[in-house]
Amino acid sequence: MEYALVTGGSRGIGRAVALRLAARGYTVVINYKSNEEAARETLQAIESAGGRAELLPFDVARPEAIEAALADWVTRHPEDYISVLVNNAGVRRDNLMVFMQNEEWHEVTDTTLNGFFYVTRRLLKDMLTRRHGRIVNITSLSGLRGMAGQTNYSAARAALIGATKALAKEVAARKVTVNAVAPGFILTDMTADLDGQQIKTLIPAGRFGRPEEVAAVVDFLVGDEAAYVTGQVIEVDGGM
Ligand code: NAP
Repeated sequence: MEYALVTGGSRGIGRAVALRLAARGYTVVINYKSNEEAARETLQAIESAGGRAELLPFDVARPEAIEAALADWVTRHPEDYISVLVNNAGVRRDNLMVFMQNEEWHEVTDTTLNGFFYVTRRLLKDMLTRRHGRIVNITSLSGLRGMAGQTNYSAARAALIGATKALAKEVAARKVTVNAVAPGFILTDMTADLDGQQIKTLIPAGRFGRPEEVAAVVDFLVGDEAAYVTGQVIEVDGGM
C-alpha cells in the first residue's frame, strides 16, 4: 500500500489532486484545517470510485499539531510511510501593502511557507531512507509574476519556489523529486469573490482553469515517468 498526503485536500485543487492520486492507486491521506464536512465529501467521492482514503486534520501552520497528527498516523501504520506529499494548503488575505496587518502577513506566510517546511521536514526522513519520494508544492503565478494586493501571498509563493529548487538539489541522489506547480486562476472557493468577466480578458485561454487541470500535472509529477524531472515549476495558467 502506498500513501499520498494532500494538505488542504478537503476542497478545490486539493480535492481534485486527492481524487486523481486515489485513481492512481494511492491510499490518500486527506488533510484539512477545519472543514470536516468538505473533507468527508472528498473521502466519500474517493471511496465511491473504488479508491482508499483517510482523514488527517491538522493546521499546517502549527508544528506541534503536525507532529501529533503524524505521530498518531505512524502508530496506526507501523510498517508504512508516506511516499507522496502534495503541499497544497493555502489561504489568501489580500490587502495593499500600506494597509496590510501583521496578521494578514503572518497567516499567509505561516500557512504556505512554514507549513511547507514543517510538513515536508517531518516526512522527508522516511523518503530518504526508503530512497523513494515525490514532493509537489502548489505555488502560484502570483509568486512568479507578483500581483498587486498580494505582497504576502506573492512573497510566500516565491519563497516556496526557491525552497523547491534548493530541496530538489539536496535530495535528488536519494531518488526523491521536488517540483512545484503554479496555477493561474482556477475555479475554486478561493477565487469565488473575484470579478470573473474582467479577469478572463487577461487570460489568453479566455477562461479560468479547472482543479482537475492542475491535478493532471501533479499526477504526472508523482509517476515513475517523471523520475528525472526535479526542481521544476510547471505553470497551469491558460497562457498567462
Ligand atoms: P480553497 O478551495 O480555498 O481550499 C483551501 C484548502 O486549504 C482547504 O482544504 C483548506 O482546509 C486548506 N487549508 C487552509 N489553511 C490550512 C491550514 N492552516 N492547515 C491545513 N489546511 C489548510 O483553495 P484552492 O483554490 O483549492 O487552492 C489550493 C492551493 O492552490 C492553495 O495553496 C492556493 O493558494 C493555491 N492556488 C490557488 C489558485 C486558484 O486560482 N484557486 C491559484 C494559484 C494557487 P479547510 O477546508 O479545512 O478550510
